[in-house]
Amino acid sequence: MMSEQIHIIKRKMFDQGYKLTPQRAAIIRVLLDHSDIPISAEDIFMVFKGKLHKMGLATVYRTLELFCEMNIIHKVNVEAGMARYTMSNIQNDSYSHEQLICTACGRKKKVKVDWVKPLEKRIESELGFTITDYQLDIMGLFTTCSGKGCIKKKVSTPSRLSVPSL
Ligand SMILES: [Zn+2]
Repeated sequence: MMSEQIHIIKRKMFDQGYKLTPQRAAIIRVLLDHSDIPISAEDIFMVFKGKLHKMGLATVYRTLELFCEMNIIHKVNVEAGMARYTMSNIQNDSYSHEQLICTACGRKKKVKVDWVKPLEKRIESELGFTITDYQLDIMGLFTTCSGKGCIKKKVSTPSRLSVPSL
């Protein structure tokens, strides 16, 4: 599954004149490894810090920016001013343009396209805007994650991150 996704990304980059360098591949693996949870550039940096495969924070930022431009990943703002990134679903059949993201545990849930259609229609007719693409990330908490006795796994804790095998 993961190697298949990496293969798709590699081809996608090649098509646009980029190479999937070992560093870029390593970052992709971290993102894929934690695809259930949006992670920040700092989180990714921490994964590589002090490890065999050292990577500068600037490199991580640059790479994430490039991946964003290529729609391999997209930015979600979990907390104000804190950018986190999550994999865009690159395989079209399971692509979700509209999803809920839990700010406590990072779980994602697809939203039915039918629910968003009326909004799409209104934007087109009332604002005179033809939508070509969109990504709707609705941040919040699932009921099971907002209860008092619930031990929240904070998204900002990078402890769940592990070093991918290269
Ligand atoms: Zn949750």
